[in-house]
Amino acid sequence: MFKSKPKCPYCSAVLTDPPKTKKKCAACGNTVFFKTDPYTNKEYFLSEDDAMQINLLKERYKIEENFFNTFCEYGLTDKLFVKRRQIYIKKHCCPIKKLREGSI
Ligand SMILES: [Zn+2]
Repeated sequence: MFKSKPKCPYCSAVLTDPPKTKKKCAACGNTVFFKTDPYTNKEYFLSEDDAMQINLLKERYKIEENFFNTFCEYGLTDKLFVKRRQIYIKKHCCPIKKLREGSI
């Protein structure tokens, strides 16, 4: 299976020279952002709004990592932490849900 070509999130034009961070789409002139979902490591080409959501998700991820690193000393297990994290993501990251469902 070959990887599908990256598309502009605004106009769906194929991005012949995909951005490494952000870049204007040659077809519509909107800025396309390249982001990695910290939870799944999947890469996306996103509109500014969706890119902001990924940034929020990244901050959340960092806070969680710090929390875990602090509390594993007190017996917080990896298993419990991962489980809680999955519950949280399901409940609170609706804007990113469409990414997970693969509609982008
Ligand atoms: Zn475009």
